[in-house]
Amino acid sequence: MKIAVIAVQGAFREHIAALKSLGAEAHEAKWARDLEGADGVIIPGGESTAIGKLMREYDMLEPVRELARAGKPIYGTCAGMIVLAKRIEGEDTTHLGLMDVTVRRNSFGRQRESFEAEIDIPAIGAPPFPAVFIRAPHIVSVGEGVEVLATYEDRIVAVRQGNLLATSFHPELTDDYRLHQYFLNMAQAPVAH
Ligand code: GLN
Repeated sequence: MKIAVIAVQGAFREHIAALKSLGAEAHEAKWARDLEGADGVIIPGGESTAIGKLMREYDMLEPVRELARAGKPIYGTCAGMIVLAKRIEGEDTTHLGLMDVTVRRNSFGRQRESFEAEIDIPAIGAPPFPAVFIRAPHIVSVGEGVEVLATYEDRIVAVRQGNLLATSFHPELTDDYRLHQYFLNMAQAPVAH
């Protein structure tokens, strides 16, 4: 299992450490060629405008779309979720534009820039997951075929659409790697769509 973690900006090192501790191979993807032969891709948290812009400049958007079309799992965390989305509230541009969701950026307000909350994610079982939110987006609406995996205070914060996975929060910043394991299980059983 070879997972490429987009490494143009943001918290990519922590994702690589999480994947390696689960026994997967993981490497930094800084250039389009680093995506060749990947069994899955993670887009980390950070700043979505910067990540999207750099991925565009380095010609990485289309190779990730191709991997998605081939059924390889793609996981976006926080800014990565925004990069995956088909619609970003109040903005005309999108980045990968793959996932049929509308996201709202920085939606938990300035007074709550970052916080941790225990949230239930039935897909990974008990106990609740320690979710770290940092200037986090949430999902305002989802299209058909998008499964809501978790909500927090009535806002959608984790979703799956076939081989695409997205969370508002940063699972790589805790030592609970159940979501990384869930993602690796998706990579083992790819679904084309
Ligand atoms: N607020 C950031 C954005 O809109 C996301 C923050 C994060 O990834 N922690 O891109």
